[in-house]
Amino acid sequence: MQWVDLRSDTVTQPTPAMREAGLRAAVGDDVMGDDPSVNALQDRVAAELGFEAALFVPSGTQSNLLALMAHCERGDEYLVGMDAHTYKYEGGGAAVLGSIQPQPIVHAADGTLPLDAVAAAIKPAGDPHFARTRLLALENTWHGRPLPLDYLAAAGAFARERGLAFHLDGARLYNAAVACGVPAAQIAGHFDSVSVCLSKGLGAPVGSVLAGSRKVVDTARRWRKVLGGGWRQAGLLAAMGQHALDHHVARLAEDHRRAAELAAALRAIPGLVVEGAFTNILFVSVPDGRHGGLAKHLESRGVRISVGRGPRIRLVTHLDIDDAGIERTIAAFRSYFA
Ligand SMILES: *Cc1c(COP(=O)(O)O)cnc(C)c1O
Repeated sequence: MQWVDLRSDTVTQPTPAMREAGLRAAVGDDVMGDDPSVNALQDRVAAELGFEAALFVPSGTQSNLLALMAHCERGDEYLVGMDAHTYKYEGGGAAVLGSIQPQPIVHAADGTLPLDAVAAAIKPAGDPHFARTRLLALENTWHGRPLPLDYLAAAGAFARERGLAFHLDGARLYNAAVACGVPAAQIAGHFDSVSVCLSKGLGAPVGSVLAGSRKVVDTARRWRKVLGGGWRQAGLLAAMGQHALDHHVARLAEDHRRAAELAAALRAIPGLVVEGAFTNILFVSVPDGRHGGLAKHLESRGVRISVGRGPRIRLVTHLDIDDAGIERTIAAFRSYFA
């Protein structure tokens, strides 16, 4: 029996066709700029998202860090959601490695950062008491929720008006685009740089892409090397990433449909509180003390979840979960709470 693994959309196995694409890839030394498959991926993502250039990197964490280090210098500050991945789940990299001070902002319930709160956090320019506020960073999707398109436009206008660079952690940008029914460029176009993960819902084994101006990407490439992220025949991975972009974007709608079906079924179980699913992520709060038992029960029925971080359980659908997997999950939840 194949596992139904709802812990994350990072657990996907590369499909046979994706592995084939990797095997066939033409490769070269990417540090020298020689890898044709890496270059093709970078050019494609830059063009698709409407930027001058792009950089293929090992992880979303590195991609976000490179963006921050490309936009900001030592003693600068970036404004970021206090639960944002970039701030909370990346080891404090901006501060540790970039000497960039984070200024966390409390999120609104829909994941947006209220622009009046952002404005209030900008430090007075030219006063040596303060770090220099340089950048505003958003995350989309936010906990599986696409940020409203009109908010992105307003935040972009705000950033320009205040002279701030504007970065998007778009780990799941394509989920947002598919859910909103717009091209990814329509979301990306508001920002000065965008980081996209190929290894989440898109199903590639490794890799993220940072897109931005030529200047930002050139600076990011230098920092990537400094951080030990210069890689050589990475075209094997880039070709698998291209395959993901060719074949796994439109199908994200299936993951969203399955997440919505799972959310609806779990909502009908007394005692469970379900949030989402706007895209491929939903959250389930179960009554106190029932987490451990639930995980064991599900495991015995071939369903994996991760419990531990607080009362809410995050469930994520992806490429390797089909309709039968959703049915099995619903049945296992029902039998546990019966
Ligand atoms: C996963 C994720 C990242 C980081 O990607 P890694 O490849 O795991 O380093 C950044 N932001 C968000 C929102 C993510 O979900």
